[in-house]
Amino acid sequence: MTTNKTYHIITIGCQMNKSDSERIASYLENLGYQESSEKEADLVVITTCGVRQSAENRIYGIIPKLKKQNPSVKIILTGCLAGREDVKKRIGEKVDIWLPVKELEKLKALLENCEDDFCNTSIYNSKYKTNDDYLKLKPKYNSVFSAFVPIGNGCDNFCTYCVVPYARGSEKYRSAEEILEEVKILVKKGYKEIALIAQNVNSYKSDANVLINTNDADCESKKVINFSKLLQMVNDIKGDFWIRFATSHPKDMSDELIETIASRKKICHHIHLPAQAGDDDVLHRMNRRYTRGHYLGLIKKIKDRMPDVALTTDIIVGFPGETRQQFDKTKELFEEVQYDMAYIAQYSPRPGTAALKFEDDIETEEKKRREEELMEVLRRTAAGNNKKYIGKKYKILIDKKNKRGNFVGRTETNKNVEIINPENIGRNLIGEFVAVKIEKADDFGLAGKIIC
Ligand code: SF4
Repeated sequence: MTTNKTYHIITIGCQMNKSDSERIASYLENLGYQESSEKEADLVVITTCGVRQSAENRIYGIIPKLKKQNPSVKIILTGCLAGREDVKKRIGEKVDIWLPVKELEKLKALLENCEDDFCNTSIYNSKYKTNDDYLKLKPKYNSVFSAFVPIGNGCDNFCTYCVVPYARGSEKYRSAEEILEEVKILVKKGYKEIALIAQNVNSYKSDANVLINTNDADCESKKVINFSKLLQMVNDIKGDFWIRFATSHPKDMSDELIETIASRKKICHHIHLPAQAGDDDVLHRMNRRYTRGHYLGLIKKIKDRMPDVALTTDIIVGFPGETRQQFDKTKELFEEVQYDMAYIAQYSPRPGTAALKFEDDIETEEKKRREEELMEVLRRTAAGNNKKYIGKKYKILIDKKNKRGNFVGRTETNKNVEIINPENIGRNLIGEFVAVKIEKADDFGLAGKIIC
């Protein structure tokens, strides 16, 4: 393998993609590659997202630009679009290696075969078959105080609008033993925030028979470790850190899990629970497999048990056939839940998904209008929720400085907080927990002073 070569990674999309890029970076560095700028790198890896057309479109701009600024650069395309035949037809000759991320361990052989000026190698060639277990690779973490720890990969849910089950394959989970080992090492190194991530954390199941070391008569029932038990085990690791997790599918959110989040000290009271729509017919056509009533029932249980919780969601507006009345149900859901944040997307048809058989019949202007209407409700509910923070003290994890030179951190409820006492500017607080008294609040941010 050639060494003294350089790489650069461009990541588009979700937390799983960011986490995958961390594993790709460490894999390449183990092969002798060094990180470099986009312009100078011998190899550019693009971790792509195909969840929305707008995310997909980004690669059609990025790839020609990369080739223009450095004609000899080798491009590796991974992520959601790595298996899409239509994407290959469109930009095939500009990409050197198409790499589904779970096949990462084959990259060494692919690169050795790709020493020519152009190779356009397909991973599906049987020559490159190896173990599919890329999550075992040690990542090169992007942060020194906050780490994504993937607990699994893939999705079995097949929501009709979503490409993820096709792009990432079926659900595969890491053993609890392996996850706990990774978290223990991170905490020992001083990491303050551990984010457990998977497409659906709530369906986590550890391999049976691991970590079963108990004389408890009930041990048989403990052989399969579910997400609630995994959270309890991570919570029991000694150290000063907190635990986040995403994403939770509402159909798999159990009472046991709600109780665990409420009762364990290190688990953040922030729940991201994607509703996607507020109308039962739309939910049915999305194949979400829960009803509005079930979703609102969960919200009630969560709020009853954790009055301080912050709730966030994902919503699609303009799903095929969504009538005005059906959209109004989503708006009512927003009023009822009083979200702290929502990621609202206008529906766009995705190749290969089941929803393609539905006519994309909502005009773009109408989708935009619906998005704006939800944003209006969201701004109001988020501002109302944030006002309640004023005058109270919170533990904040500082994660950066803003353009004004002030530190910015997050509460355990994932609210952004700007630190406004000027005497702290000279100190390096990034990656530290501090106690802050909140003095100001607007719709999506808080500001306060460090009190110790
Ligand atoms: S749960 Fe649905 S939306 Fe989420 S990744 Fe799986 S198929 Fe996609």
